[in-house]
Amino acid sequence: MARSTSSNIPPVINLAVPSPLRRTFDYLPPKESNSGDWKTLQPGMRLRVPFGKREIIGVITGISDTSKLGRNKLRHAIAVLDQEPLFSPALMKSFDWAAGYYQHPPGEVYSTLLPAKLRQGARAEFATKYAWISRSKPLQEDRGNLDRAPRQKALLQFIVQHGQVSLEQYTEAGFTAATLRELVNKALVEKIEIPATNPGDDTNNRPVGKGNIIKPNPGQQVAIKSITASLDGFACHLLDGITGSGKTEVYLQVIKKVLDLGKQALILVPEIGLTPQTIRLFEERFACRVAALHSGMTSNERLESWLRAKNGLARIIIGTRSAVFTPLARPGIIIVDEEHDASFKQQDGFRYSARDLAIVRAREEKISIVLGSATPALETLYNATTHRYNHLVLSQRAGEARKSPINLLDLQHANTTEGFSTPLIDLIRRHLDQQNQVLIFINRRGFAPALLCKACGFVFECRRCDSLLTVHKIPPTLHCHHCESRSAIPAACPNCNSSQLATRGMGTEKTEQFLQQQFADIPVIRIDRDSTRNRNNLDDLLNQVQTGQPCIMVGTQMLAKGHHFPRVTLVAVLDADTGLFSPDFRGQELMVQLLFQVAGRAGRADKPGQVVVQTRHATHTSLQALAENDYHQVAELLLRERKAAHMPPFSHLALIRAEAAELKLPLQLLQQIHQLCEKVQRELSLPGILLHHPLPSPMEKRAGRYRAQFLLQAKSRGALQALMALVCPQIETIKSARKARWSIDVDPLDLI
Ligand code: ADP
Ligand code: ZN
Ligand code: ZN
Repeated sequence: MARSTSSNIPPVINLAVPSPLRRTFDYLPPKESNSGDWKTLQPGMRLRVPFGKREIIGVITGISDTSKLGRNKLRHAIAVLDQEPLFSPALMKSFDWAAGYYQHPPGEVYSTLLPAKLRQGARAEFATKYAWISRSKPLQEDRGNLDRAPRQKALLQFIVQHGQVSLEQYTEAGFTAATLRELVNKALVEKIEIPATNPGDDTNNRPVGKGNIIKPNPGQQVAIKSITASLDGFACHLLDGITGSGKTEVYLQVIKKVLDLGKQALILVPEIGLTPQTIRLFEERFACRVAALHSGMTSNERLESWLRAKNGLARIIIGTRSAVFTPLARPGIIIVDEEHDASFKQQDGFRYSARDLAIVRAREEKISIVLGSATPALETLYNATTHRYNHLVLSQRAGEARKSPINLLDLQHANTTEGFSTPLIDLIRRHLDQQNQVLIFINRRGFAPALLCKACGFVFECRRCDSLLTVHKIPPTLHCHHCESRSAIPAACPNCNSSQLATRGMGTEKTEQFLQQQFADIPVIRIDRDSTRNRNNLDDLLNQVQTGQPCIMVGTQMLAKGHHFPRVTLVAVLDADTGLFSPDFRGQELMVQLLFQVAGRAGRADKPGQVVVQTRHATHTSLQALAENDYHQVAELLLRERKAAHMPPFSHLALIRAEAAELKLPLQLLQQIHQLCEKVQRELSLPGILLHHPLPSPMEKRAGRYRAQFLLQAKSRGALQALMALVCPQIETIKSARKARWSIDVDPLDLI
């Protein structure tokens, strides 16, 4: 990285540019620059450079004296876009680690982690904001003119009333940019620039909010003490506490300490967990403006949060997965809430785990990290029990609430209607009669998971995927949940022309309909991806629940996470069996975590709760352990199975996938990659790596493309890494690799 001489010869700049090639590219500084300019170049700054016939933007990863290509072959950069690095050396080291570990092209890593605006070349500065004011006193005749333009008149009045109006204000009030433009054209309204004085509104000498309002219980005290004692260096803590045990309170009190030290806290939450309530919780406690980072924001909003974090203007940064890349001026702690959540793993492109990357980053930044969960991932739990992480356990619910018993309801000996057994219906009625709320969990959205012909047995399948079509009634469609294709519900069977079509199985919509029939005077509130397409819908539905009136919620896993429903006393899981026999190695773990999270919604306040799980396999060991309501017991069982099967955390996996429109291509490519792996393995004599045979993927056809995969399973992470580091660049040179799309997934979440 460092240059030996500060000579008059321009330095060679190593640049990560958005390209699928697994290497950096060398450039010379802009032609017109001088030796003074060269000295200011540093890793982490952006350059605009020529690339083939295009111009692109790259990030400097290193500066050196020589290039393998030879200087005379190098092109000059066009412009230097930053005066200072966008990332600290520690952060850049984490990125380099990620590019290597996940075998991803460094340029694509950098373009994933830059906010869109910066990727496109915008300046790393707060955007200028504008407002509109009314111009002196509009003349009488101008006002007269507006009589025929009532919207313009109303907007002008609105502006006069407020003195000064921003884009957000006038759009929120229902006015459009077009109306405003008319007023500007008529010179009735003027646009002014608002100086970006202090978009952070956070300074470190501000008092720290309401401070500690809750007195921590002994378990929380131990955790808080242990974490705060480690703040001056790297340590990884697992805060392993049952739902309602007060993990959030531990975070808050630790964050207070971090802020008192003048440092910043970065909090990563699952996609579903980042609600306005979450942000409000932190803002109220600490009387500050949190910098939020999530996919629902505009690129300007994201850039603003990013800059506030980088410049130290925001003290608390809360975001989803990609927020792990946010630069911090004074990093103090990283918290990963619900660390087991699948949304922390990116499932396409740069397939990183934000949790694992957060740990690497904390180590590089020499700060502490807290992983929190009521149902830690088996890998995390294993790392904690083998003392790689500091294991902090909260086994009691905080405050008054007690842990709810979990009862299995054996469906083998019960009558059911639309998936509800008679005892469950009775139970729901009893809880509602006592003025309580009920939550029904069913992990399948839509009306029913299948449509079939009663006359000939024909089942409607997606034409582009190996999967059945889901029936939706609101609006009526057949919907493929894998490729998102939609079509009208047909009137007759395409096979025998019979009109006797019937749905099979239950989805949230059908469950909602059934419950509404059973409990006519009780509101039934459905919460799933379809009923909450926009964020406000979810808030509206949750507000309805928060009134505390008796109601039934029907929902998917969206309901399982984080929400606090103090009036819910009965949680029922309609069908626990689908996950139990999942073909994937993580299927059971995911099901058990989900069931524990759902069960955790019961009896959160003063009222005792009850959890009922319907199953046809009441004697299954995982369900038996679940009924003990002890996640650790289930986890131990599952870990024993993993050990016997040599699966993670007892081995390390990488999955190479390929897909193409042509049936045979993916397998052919994978066979070539397989041979390549065998050759490298022999040459390096790498021990303990099992190369499975390339096979069609469990869902071979998806969105009109054929898919295949092959698994690498290794005892040692190092050996696997060494193998892949050599193999991946060689795959780029295989000809058919250009016709079939291939990808590598290190530590895959599933093998499907
Ligand atoms: P978790 O995040 O572990 O699910 P929360 O932090 O949301 O749990 O806490 C659950 C409830 O208990 C919240 O209403 C919280 O205010 C309350 N609580 C937390 N700690 C205490 C405590 N030490 N004493 C009393 N109530 C507490
Ligand atoms: Zn038919
Ligand atoms: Zn499909």
